[in-house]
Amino acid sequence: MEGIKVNALMLRAVDYGENDKILTLLTDSLGKISAGIKGVKKAGAKLKFAAQPFCFAEYILAKRGEKYTVTQASETESFYDLRTDINKFYAAAAVCEAADRLSYGGAEDETLFALTVRALSEVCNGDEASALIKYLFSALSSSGYTMGLDNCSECGAPLVSCDKMRFDMNAGAFTCWDCGTGAGVSGVTYNVLRQCAGKPFDSAYITADGKKRALRLLREYIAYKTDARCTSLSEYIRLL
Ligand SMILES: [Zn+2]
Repeated sequence: MEGIKVNALMLRAVDYGENDKILTLLTDSLGKISAGIKGVKKAGAKLKFAAQPFCFAEYILAKRGEKYTVTQASETESFYDLRTDINKFYAAAAVCEAADRLSYGGAEDETLFALTVRALSEVCNGDEASALIKYLFSALSSSGYTMGLDNCSECGAPLVSCDKMRFDMNAGAFTCWDCGTGAGVSGVTYNVLRQCAGKPFDSAYITADGKKRALRLLREYIAYKTDARCTSLSEYIRLL
């Protein structure tokens, strides 16, 4: 049987039987898949690393019917520092959780795969809160849930220097306070989102708790769009 070679990120592992696990892998070419991996709970198992959180590796898969099994793996990057810092650990877990929620298989996943690998590297090596906000914003876009960070979607007025405004979850767009009916959002949240997305912002609205506020809005928006709760993201927000 010919093996299928994929670059993949290990998003989630659940126990299966005595010694096996079932992995959720985000791959560069097959989108998100489930794959069994045998014997990894035994002491000294050769492929134990391939079932660890944040493992980025080249996996060799065998396919029988619709089921994949991992037969070999060689690690590309372990992101080891993510396991030695509790904040980075939960930020990285929130990245993997969001990738899981926002991927459905198909053409968009190559972009999502690249974004997710880059985000883990940025969480590992830089300011993890900014990296996480930037990732959630771009992963939402790649999954068709764009969060428009532009002017008011009703009247076109700029919002960067407004104290308060509204966010319409359905349209994924911000409006002036008086133009819309969405949830109230502060100028701090809006400007921190713009800063992390690399857009011009008003520095008067960048405050110490701004990233926490921005992450709360992103969490609500993901929950609204996908009907799924992000528990690692909530844990990270609690730690901030
Ligand atoms: Zn307006």
